[in-house]
Amino acid sequence: MTLSPVEQLNSPLFNKHDVSVFVKRDDLIHPIISGNKWRKLQYNLAEAKKLGYKGVISFGGAYSNHLHALAFACHQQGLTAKLIIRGEPSYAQNYTLRCAKHWGAHLLFVDRATYRRRTDPEFRAQLSNDYPELMLIPEGGTNSLALRGVREVMTELETQQTFDTIMTPVGSAGTLSGLICGAKGQQVLGVAVLKQAQYLVDEIQSLLKTQKCSYNNWQLLTDYHQGGYAKFSQQDLTRIQNFMKETGLPLEPIYSGKMICAFLTLLEQGFFNKGHRIMLLHTGGLQGLYGLAEQNRIKADEWPLPHEIPAR
Ligand SMILES: *Cc1c(COP(=O)(O)O)cnc(C)c1O
Repeated sequence: MTLSPVEQLNSPLFNKHDVSVFVKRDDLIHPIISGNKWRKLQYNLAEAKKLGYKGVISFGGAYSNHLHALAFACHQQGLTAKLIIRGEPSYAQNYTLRCAKHWGAHLLFVDRATYRRRTDPEFRAQLSNDYPELMLIPEGGTNSLALRGVREVMTELETQQTFDTIMTPVGSAGTLSGLICGAKGQQVLGVAVLKQAQYLVDEIQSLLKTQKCSYNNWQLLTDYHQGGYAKFSQQDLTRIQNFMKETGLPLEPIYSGKMICAFLTLLEQGFFNKGHRIMLLHTGGLQGLYGLAEQNRIKADEWPLPHEIPAR
């Protein structure tokens, strides 16, 4: 595998606070399977093939970066993808799911009550029984195999750049947990993008146990969700857009944008010592901009939408 690049970002603000800021561009890992989803799926799909499965089954919301990445990766590797999606079948018209269908994924829409059972052992057993040829991958692709993939971010960074703190956005915490496992003395900071994310701390502890990892220098920041998952104000959008203009870094407001807002707030509060070196992990997810534009929540021409894949 080729390393994703590390770039230094420049801003008068960084000079003012005497910090150096870098970004690990995992959004550039692959043109479609971007960022942390590539890292998390790599060993899961290898395992599915090793165990003789014909494909995988997984879960997500209607605009899920995970399902988008999974559908393409399965298409590329000759695996079947069955996607269990929370919500109405009409979501199949959105960009994310049009792509998934274009790559041959099977979409199955379920109501919220059914979706909520996605981690129930009985529900999982029923799925394995109904689809014995498919391996179950949890929502977001987060499991012990995902951690193995994400750890490699830290291994790569050893050869690329020295830093004191690495920051990542956090959804299901698989990425944060993988970074913690791979850390060698650095501080690992996660920015929760959903409300009331304190429950993730237990989740992280049990994920770390699967890797026999007892590293303690990490923190989950739970006050930067901006109102909840995929919520943001016009003020938040402006702040993210100003950062994009200043640094040239492409962002979206659900994950990477929230991390940037948290980072800027911490910086202004003097959270980082003078001389501190900060590595921001760009986890990808730019395809999510299409869903936001389709819902008129952002203006398409103001954001770095990736190249559109299937024709309408
Ligand atoms: C899924 C996702 C995350 C969250 O990763 P977790 O491992 O679920 O915490 C962060 N950024 C982007 C762009 C994502 O798609």
